Amino acid sequence: MTGFARMSEIEIECPFCRIGKIKTLHRESFMQSETTRVSGRRSTRSYYRPEKYEVLDNCPNCGKSKKELQKAIDTGKTKKMTHEERIAMLKKRGLPLVIGSNK
Ligand SMILES: [Zn+2]
Repeated sequence: MTGFARMSEIEIECPFCRIGKIKTLHRESFMQSETTRVSGRRSTRSYYRPEKYEVLDNCPNCGKSKKELQKAIDTGKTKKMTHEERIAMLKKRGLPLVIGSNK
């Protein structure tokens, strides 16, 4: 056994128009453990797999493509980000960090 996640088909609100309902395949977050052998010793490491939405269809209302919807969902457009998440995202993009400063 190397991890287990429940998958279910659910509909979520379109991140662009907020009206259309998009069909997605939702996978719950889960822990995956992996056993590795390092110089004769076995060690088990656990990885956290975050929940994921896989877009299955275009938006029936605004017509955004699966690809665009997937990108919006993956980049977290659909949910409010915490301050820490925002900083982490900005760092990843390589933007200068001047939050809370007028300069
Ligand atoms: Zn839409």
